[in-house]
Amino acid sequence: MAEATPLYDTYLRAPLRFERGEGVWLIAENGERYLDFGAGVAVSSLGHGHPHLVDALKAQADKVWHLSNLYEVPGQETLGQRLTEATFADKVFFTNSGAEALECAIKTARRYQFSKGHPERFHIITFEGAFHGRTIATIAAGGQEKYLEGFGPKAPGFDQVPFGDIEAVKAAITEATAAILIEPVQGEGGIRPATTEFMRALRALCDEHGLLLILDEVQCGVGRTGKLFAHEWSGVTPDIMAVAKGIGGGFPLGACLATAEAASGMKAGTHGSTYGGNPLAMAVGNAVLDVVLSDGFLQNVRDVALVFRQGLASLEDRYPDLIEDVRGEGLMLGIKPKVPSAELLQAIRAEHLLGVPAGDNVLRLLPPLVTTAEEARDGLARLERAVESLRAARALKSA
Ligand SMILES: *Cc1c(COP(=O)(O)O)cnc(C)c1O
Repeated sequence: MAEATPLYDTYLRAPLRFERGEGVWLIAENGERYLDFGAGVAVSSLGHGHPHLVDALKAQADKVWHLSNLYEVPGQETLGQRLTEATFADKVFFTNSGAEALECAIKTARRYQFSKGHPERFHIITFEGAFHGRTIATIAAGGQEKYLEGFGPKAPGFDQVPFGDIEAVKAAITEATAAILIEPVQGEGGIRPATTEFMRALRALCDEHGLLLILDEVQCGVGRTGKLFAHEWSGVTPDIMAVAKGIGGGFPLGACLATAEAASGMKAGTHGSTYGGNPLAMAVGNAVLDVVLSDGFLQNVRDVALVFRQGLASLEDRYPDLIEDVRGEGLMLGIKPKVPSAELLQAIRAEHLLGVPAGDNVLRLLPPLVTTAEEARDGLARLERAVESLRAARALKSA
């Protein structure tokens, strides 16, 4: 590895160099194949090189790449129409990333209260363990000290309470509260699903106090949990929702969705993005939806998720000395080992299986949504060999 890199030192990168992708596989420069159950942190929702996405991107590349939002962008109208038809939302704003989708969601909520004559209502209640991005506002929303330290005063207006604690939420509501912001399944926080009961209680509190419910479905949305959006499992609908990652299938794309009422303060000139809703992104986003909304696709996600769930439960039963917990919804899976999760990550990599680290000492598996049952079993077998190697290493150490 290079001693002096021209790149910022912000990332702790694994020494792996991939040059190609094929479905659920990544192929390294040396030709070795890795089963990609990290999917670029839940982004490569349809795996690598999906022909429908490749065709859509190439076709748009031949027409026009960029227009700006000075003009109408037909792909935005189409994708916006499809997203609103498929969800609670009436309005969509397109962004390039998750953090920008959250920025739009936060601004939409604050602006709503402002336009209703309540400029003092700008506080947003958020949850411990949350992750909403790395901008100045979203690190304040996430509230994690490790991301806030050294970047000046924490942006005001974010009040954090323990995840799942409805009494703490009630106690945090004041005359200055505008909204509640939650991930239905915490991703970076360690694959922690909110219960249906909690989601319903948040909705009821919002209705009672005139607050907006904002969901961050950047990671858990777009089919990841086996429904188009994770909140559908609870039957609770938000007022505003941030989406990104899987909706672009690897092309940078995010969106903020809102009801007409929640978006009513966002008048012409109040918000904007140079790239947001760019024709290339729209072509890919529409192609992703073609696949995810096709007959039987989400059912297949749920079926393959069952294979994982059973495989992980069996692993947990057979390795109680090494596995403390397995959790997740759909294809958003977490394994909490009794050793540092970095060791398990190393061990699965040695088996040419890729995962993603998370908080709470959890290793995430976020397989592409196109993973077949057979590929799932392949991944489970690799995981088992990795756990077996940890057991062997442990036996060696204590011998
Ligand atoms: C990844 C993520 C974000 C931030 O998305 P970026 O595209 O990295 O800005 C926000 N919220 C959640 C839940 C995420 O998983």
